[in-house]
Amino acid sequence: MNKTTGLANVHQGIAGLNPYVPGKPIDELTRELGIADIIKLASNENPRGPGPIVMQALDSVRGDLSRYPDGSGYLLKESLASRLEVDTSQITLGNGSNDVLDLVTRVSVEPGYEAIISEHSFVVYRLATTCAGGTLVTVPAKDYGTDLEGMLGAITEKTRIIFIANPNNPTGTWVAQTELANFLRQVPNNVWVVLDEAYFEYIDEPDYPNGIELMADHPNLIVTRTFSKIHGLASVRLGYSISSPEMADLVNRARQPFNCSSFALAAGVAAIADTDFVATSLALNQEGLTQLTQGVAALGCDYIPSVGNFVSIDCGGPGPETFDALLHKGVITRPVAEYGLPRHLRVSVGLEAENERFLDAFKAVLNEREG
Ligand SMILES: *Cc1c(COP(=O)(O)O)cnc(C)c1O
Repeated sequence: MNKTTGLANVHQGIAGLNPYVPGKPIDELTRELGIADIIKLASNENPRGPGPIVMQALDSVRGDLSRYPDGSGYLLKESLASRLEVDTSQITLGNGSNDVLDLVTRVSVEPGYEAIISEHSFVVYRLATTCAGGTLVTVPAKDYGTDLEGMLGAITEKTRIIFIANPNNPTGTWVAQTELANFLRQVPNNVWVVLDEAYFEYIDEPDYPNGIELMADHPNLIVTRTFSKIHGLASVRLGYSISSPEMADLVNRARQPFNCSSFALAAGVAAIADTDFVATSLALNQEGLTQLTQGVAALGCDYIPSVGNFVSIDCGGPGPETFDALLHKGVITRPVAEYGLPRHLRVSVGLEAENERFLDAFKAVLNEREG
């Protein structure tokens, strides 16, 4: 019996994927190197964790663990709808926004059809398109960012979906209101445009577009957002999309009935209500981002200007080696070579002391490399 046969008769696109490399967990580094006092600035998490109101909401769920969650997510959709001024019929909930991105892709893409992404863009679009059997069309980046003109030029009769992360992870680059509106006017109505706004709440730029407002003129637009970033809830897995009710109806058909846990639903409602927590997190991030970029510039390194809670730094040498050297100093960052950025490291904005610790370690690593 040939025991490898079962591996040959599989989805060749999936077999050809590189496994997703998550940010390294703190526990893993402790096991590997036996060092304590590790900081993680690797996964764009909120360094404060969720606020106390959310913690209370999570506690309140503990009594009901044997029951399935509310598969319709009624209360959370009501909260989101009133906060975002949309109708509940426009919302699709997901086990993280990655789940929603996957669902949207499965609904729109079939074998023989194409998805357009930008070079250096968030890896989940590639994953989802490949799993759906679609063909990826990658448009070269412009100054590390999304080239919307280039994307328009890449549209064919086979194009089903276009992904734009605004801002993009790991580059932190973003597209402005006028540019985006101009782009949307030229995209054919039958091509879905996904605007991934995972970092929406962090951006305080006058020209930064709000995808939900653009939807009135562009019913082929679908906006995804998440509770993993500013709300500090990466662990509970909760995200959502806003679209036309018709698109949401289709995407909801592909959804697993209980894709959001009771913890996620309750935490989401509480997080939406806690506007102070979001405001304080935003302010902390702006200070931290300045601290990091000024610190890095003072060491003579370039970085890609970012509006998110992370920044990709040009290490002036191989990113993965710098990543390793930082690990040995107890600092976890994120190499981004697989995003086509072999000299960069992505560093998430942490608490002030964490940012300082990174800068000290980075300086030491640069010095060791020279010496
Ligand atoms: C972090 C991130 C997400 C969010 O993923 P979740 O599944 O909601 O945790 C989505 N898009 C981008 C570009 C991100 O960086």
